[in-house]
Amino acid sequence: MVDVLIVGGGPAGLTAALYAGRAGKSITVLEKNAFGGQITWSPKVENFPATAALSGLEFSDRLTEQVLRYGVNLESDEVNAVQVENNLVRVSTVFGDTYEAKTLILATGAAPRRLGLPEEERFIGAGVSFCAVCDGEFFREKTVAVVGGGNTALQEAIYLSALCKTVYLIHRRAEFRADQSLVSAMATHPNIFFLPDRVVTQLKGESRLSAVVLERKDGTTEELAVDGLFLAVGHTPENALFPSIVPITDQGYADADESCKTNFPQIFVAGDCRQKQVQQLTTAVSDGATAALAACRYLDESV
Ligand code: NAP
Repeated sequence: MVDVLIVGGGPAGLTAALYAGRAGKSITVLEKNAFGGQITWSPKVENFPATAALSGLEFSDRLTEQVLRYGVNLESDEVNAVQVENNLVRVSTVFGDTYEAKTLILATGAAPRRLGLPEEERFIGAGVSFCAVCDGEFFREKTVAVVGGGNTALQEAIYLSALCKTVYLIHRRAEFRADQSLVSAMATHPNIFFLPDRVVTQLKGESRLSAVVLERKDGTTEELAVDGLFLAVGHTPENALFPSIVPITDQGYADADESCKTNFPQIFVAGDCRQKQVQQLTTAVSDGATAALAACRYLDESV
C-alpha cells in the first residue's frame, strides 16, 4: 500500500513523483517501457526554461536521479486494470501483480501515430522507425525520409542530416506546424529536401523497406527509393485505462481540465494523455506537479 501510485514514468509521471516525494509521501511509479518516456528520443531539448540545451536522454536521466533521492520506488510493469474499492485504488498488471494505493495518477502519455498502411507493422525495425536518435546510426550515409510537418519531424530531419547522405521531408501540406526556428534551421542543411503536398500511400520492399510511393494532390504518384522511413506524424494517447475513470474526447484524450481531476476524487490524469492546447515538456511537468499536489491535498484531508 502506497500513498501515491503513478502509472507512467515519463516527464509528467516522474515530476508527480518528485512533488509527492518532497511532500513525504510513499510512492511507486509503474512504467511499461523505459523510464523517461518519449522525451528520451528527442535529440535536443532547447526550450526547457533555465537549462542549456541537453539531449532528451540527459533530461530523463537527471529527472530519474532526482526522483530516486526521495525514495521513490520505480517498477517496470504494465497496468491493465484499475479498480476503486472502499476509497482505495487497486491496479493489476500484465505480470499478474497487484498494487494498492490511496491515490492514483495516470500519466500514461501517448504512443507514436502510424500512417495506417498495410505493410507498416511488417517494416517496423526493418526500415521504418519512430526515433532518429535511437535508429539513425543504422542509416549512416544512406537515404532516408521523414514524414510529418511538426516539431518532431523537423528535429528528426535535422538530426538525420548529419548522419545520412540524403534526407527527404515528406509532408501532406506546404505549411509547417513546426516552430519557425526549426524551419529556418532546416533550410541551412543542404542535404534535406522538402517534398510538400504529398502523402505516403505505399511501402515497398522485400525483407526491408526499399521505397515509398507518394501521391500528390492532383492524384499523380511517384516512387522514392529510401533505405529508411522515420514517422513523425504525431501521437495517439495511451487511454486503455480511462473508461469509467474519466470522460474521453473524440481524439481519445482524457477530458480533464488543468486541475487534472477525474470522476474519482483520488485519481488524477497528467501529461500528454490529457486533452490540452499545448503538449510540451513544460506542460507535461506542469501537469505532474498539479496532479501530485492535488493527490497530496486529498491524502492530507482524508486523515
Ligand atoms: P504534431 O505537432 O501533432 O505534428 C504532427 C505532424 O504530422 C503534422 O505536421 C501533421 O500534419 C502530420 N500528420 C499527422 N497525421 C498524419 C498522417 N496520417 N499522414 C501524414 N502526416 C500526418 O506532432 P509532433 O511533431 O510529434 O509534436 C507533438 C507535440 O510535441 C507538439 O505540441 C510539439 O510542439 C511538441 N514538440 C516540441 C518540441 C520542441 O522542441 N519544442 C519537439 C518535439 C515536439 P498537419 O500539420 O497537416 O496536421
